[in-house]
Amino acid sequence: NRQILLASRPEGEATVANFRLAEAPIAPLEDGEVLVRNHFLSLDPYMRGRMNESKSYAQPQPLDEVMIGGTAGEVVASRNAHFQVGDAVVGMGGWQEYQRVPAGARGVLQKVDTRHVPLSAYLGAVGMPGVTAWYGLTQIIAPKAGETVVVSAASGAVGGAVGQLAKVRGCRAVGLAGGPDKCAYVVNELGFDACIDYKAHPDLKSLSKALKEACPNGIDGYFENVGGMILDAVMLRMNAFSRMALCGMIAGYDGTPTPMSNPALILINRMKVEGFIVSEHMNLWPEALKELGTLVATGKLKYRETVAQGLESAPEAFLGLLKGRNFGKQLVKLI
Ligand code: NDP
Repeated sequence: NRQILLASRPEGEATVANFRLAEAPIAPLEDGEVLVRNHFLSLDPYMRGRMNESKSYAQPQPLDEVMIGGTAGEVVASRNAHFQVGDAVVGMGGWQEYQRVPAGARGVLQKVDTRHVPLSAYLGAVGMPGVTAWYGLTQIIAPKAGETVVVSAASGAVGGAVGQLAKVRGCRAVGLAGGPDKCAYVVNELGFDACIDYKAHPDLKSLSKALKEACPNGIDGYFENVGGMILDAVMLRMNAFSRMALCGMIAGYDGTPTPMSNPALILINRMKVEGFIVSEHMNLWPEALKELGTLVATGKLKYRETVAQGLESAPEAFLGLLKGRNFGKQLVKLI
């Protein structure tokens, strides 16, 4: 079983040297155990935080252990009555080709139906990133039809779903993304009303002007994935009684400071600002997944994937995600 371990903790930016490829034998299954061949590994920004020693809302990833990660695959051996060989499953299999799931796996391994939704989508639009979009939009921003919702990292796994779910609710959806290709995709393929290329607006004044043009009625809801100057620019356009779902601040994950320059705007605009961690709201996942699954199966929720080939490509692909080199949901194909 080939695996990728965390070899060392990053000092500043993470590098490929922080990871190590290893091989481990697979012991025969005990009663109640299941063996899964992972087909896809999901690469997600939260993994960068786990590489650090400092305690966040989650425990750090231990050194010399398999990197944590969501996976989708197929049961290849089972001594558990609930799982049959050939079942399509998703779980937290980690950065490895096979996952041996201990007895009591019903909670950690979920069977999925791949007749109308492709297996890989259970790691994206119909998985954790999709539920993240759904939760922040419906539970925190809670937009009314006709309101304007803005989302950063708009071409990504979370951001793409946010805008489309806002459109379903009758809102004006405006994205921010890096580069003309990503922006064209967000408008033409995902159906947002507008998308601003923040890289074409390197200073606060210019970005804030572009937001004013894209949001003539101001901003009622902001779904924040990035932080830094993008947040400052959006804050200048927020309406009275607007809401901000603080989902991620990827601009700072590799050590760049991301201060907020004018928190007084929260008071002046009587804003609601709420951070959230999607895994702490498991009670709402079934409702969210039902809507997301139906929208994907009927072609109303679109998504794009960047798929790196082979386990050994995972570290490089992961570092690319932190630099915006991915275009849509970043996956690794393991088979
Ligand atoms: P994406 O698919 O959106 O990929 C990350 C994107 O972030 C890149 O493609 C890039 O897009 C953008 N980005 C990277 N670095 C920077 C930077 N320095 N400045 C501006 N943009 C940058 O990832 P996800 O959809 O998986 O995640 C999006 C956000 O949601 C992340 O912040 C993540 O941590 C957060 N998240 C939070 C969860 C929660 O429970 N709170 C759960 C899941 C995700 P571009 O080229 O457009 O800049």
